[in-house]
Amino acid sequence: MSALYLDANASEPLRPEARAALLAALDLPGNPSSVHGDGRAARRVLEQARARVAARFGSRPRDVVFTSGATEANAMALHGLGAGRRILAGATEHPAILRAMPGIEQLPVQADGQLDLAALEAALASGGPALVCVMAANNETGVLHPLEDVMLLCQRHGALLHVDAVQAAGRVPVSLAGLGADSMALSAHKMGGPKGVGALLLRPGLDLAALLPGGGQERGRRGGTEALPAIAGFGAAAEAADPAQSARLATLRDAIEAGVGPEIGILGAGAPRVPNTTCLLLPGTPAETQVIALDLGGMRVSAGSACSSGKVAASHVLLAMGLGRTEAAAAIRVSLPWNAPDDAAERFLEAYAALRARLSRNAA
Ligand code: PLP
Repeated sequence: MSALYLDANASEPLRPEARAALLAALDLPGNPSSVHGDGRAARRVLEQARARVAARFGSRPRDVVFTSGATEANAMALHGLGAGRRILAGATEHPAILRAMPGIEQLPVQADGQLDLAALEAALASGGPALVCVMAANNETGVLHPLEDVMLLCQRHGALLHVDAVQAAGRVPVSLAGLGADSMALSAHKMGGPKGVGALLLRPGLDLAALLPGGGQERGRRGGTEALPAIAGFGAAAEAADPAQSARLATLRDAIEAGVGPEIGILGAGAPRVPNTTCLLLPGTPAETQVIALDLGGMRVSAGSACSSGKVAASHVLLAMGLGRTEAAAAIRVSLPWNAPDDAAERFLEAYAALRARLSRNAA
């Protein structure tokens, strides 16, 4: 039986619509900045993709800045909007935020993984203009943060809000305008588009200094010839990634959680989550051991923890949720892709049960 890919939060499989748009754009010779006919043809493809991304995520096309991915989009927001402001970020944010610049103040989360709103309010009240960075959904647990409440607090204290919407996009409804946030980062490959392209969406009227001024592309906000084929694929993926279709994934995720057994911890289960993600804690077994054993059994999952120099480092997300170091290094993330087969839960549970049986045989 072929392997089962359950690592969508690392990267979603390419959608056929994205592949077709990408391949079609590959053969366009023109540079979108050239004024001749081939340049204008390339520009039309670029602007169509921009319109698609804008329409899906509640932005105006002119406020979509294409980037090399969400790492760049997040860095652009922090550097461009954070000048002269304190930067407050949730402790469970992705390293693309937490390591974007020095001096970021981290805000605690609750045991269920959601941002501690009282701590945010206290930080905002303690003075100084701020830029608040909160992800829509966490990449390890799938936990959704209470963005409407965060937005109200930001408005009350005159703070800007930047949202890393990478893991929510395409899985739950996400709208920059609907939320009223100042900026939003997106990554194409997390919604079934190609890797290496993303966008920063800006609130109308908001501008920022370019990190890479270059030739003034993207209305002077991001220099460099646009990665047209990847951007065309991104636009098609954004249009195809309809959150209404992910209800099916919630059924599969729930079946996994119901089937693993009561001794398995389900991290973040008390909070609202994206439908495709579950983070499973098997006490006493390092995540790396689980990931390798499951891989041998044909299940592609990932560790909630990073592995460096052969040592499993505890996940900063799980530590922030209050887990001990050993526990925080014993959780795996199962993230169902948009095209997960209907028997995905059944097949995963079979492999997980086999892993646990092997572990108890080894322990005996
Ligand atoms: N933000 C979050 C929440 C992510 O999960 C990731 C990737 O895993 C990123 C940002 C970085 O995105 P990219 O790979 O497009 O740089």
